[in-house]
Amino acid sequence: MKVFAVDLGGTFIKVGVVDEKGSIRWKRSVKTPPPGRPLETVSTLAKLLREAQHEFQISYIGIGCPGSIDRDQGLVRYSPNLDWHDFPLAEALSKETGLEVYVENDANAFVLGEKWFGAGKNCEHIVALTFGTGVGGGVISHNILITGYLGIGAELGHVIVEPNGPQCGCGSYGCLEAIASARSVARLATEMVEKYPDSVLSGLDRIAAEDVFAAYRKGDKLAKILLERVTHGIARAVGAYVQFFNPQLIVFGGGLARSSDVLIPLVEEKVPLYVMPSFLGTFKIVQSQLLEDAGIKGAASIVFQRKLT
Ligand SMILES: [Zn+2]
Repeated sequence: MKVFAVDLGGTFIKVGVVDEKGSIRWKRSVKTPPPGRPLETVSTLAKLLREAQHEFQISYIGIGCPGSIDRDQGLVRYSPNLDWHDFPLAEALSKETGLEVYVENDANAFVLGEKWFGAGKNCEHIVALTFGTGVGGGVISHNILITGYLGIGAELGHVIVEPNGPQCGCGSYGCLEAIASARSVARLATEMVEKYPDSVLSGLDRIAAEDVFAAYRKGDKLAKILLERVTHGIARAVGAYVQFFNPQLIVFGGGLARSSDVLIPLVEEKVPLYVMPSFLGTFKIVQSQLLEDAGIKGAASIVFQRKLT
């Protein structure tokens, strides 16, 4: 079976043809049309599909999409990144292409990708977190993707880890996303830099999250204080997920996970503060193995999970 897999991002659309072994046989990347123009995205996808169909017999389309997704109808209820409201993505693309289309929230696609082709192979209980522009989360329990009543559950990034903490994009205060997304780490470092003129970060025009990790490796004080705060937040959240779902594996992906050599040990040392003793030693925290291809493989896994299990 060959799936046309779509990783629909706010900046780029990445597409690929993926077989059930997880091999990417064909790949393209294009710029996402301007926000609020879903029909342009649909015609872009249809065009890319036709290109792929010159070489491959495609069975289904799987799409990982940011935002709240009605997964049964393939409806994008609301996507802040794309500025789409109640857009029937599956129906529109299916009409254009004649193929069945399955849509899932991108973080749910990520955890499915880890289960089918990544660190979570052979695991039935996985929690996955992506630390990118925001913090996304996905949960697989007993091999089933946990999505809740309307399919929009498992918003793990909006667990509050610092009451009265910084305001989050969702309107609440102190969410994991407001502390530990790549964007938040960069923002918090930028706010701190004035107080730490000796920091190696103070000379930079624009601070990115990876600069903070690089500074940490050099023993920078600002980076140490900030990453202690960030990893306390992550550990608090991970402790809660461990107690809710009893996962065997927790996978970190997204930009921050590229610095897992620093990130994971700092989180691991703090999680015991936030879980009941009976959970100690029952789970592992690992870095995503899928890296650049996590989005495309995750999108393909949406189809494999529905058709092959
Ligand atoms: Zn939030």
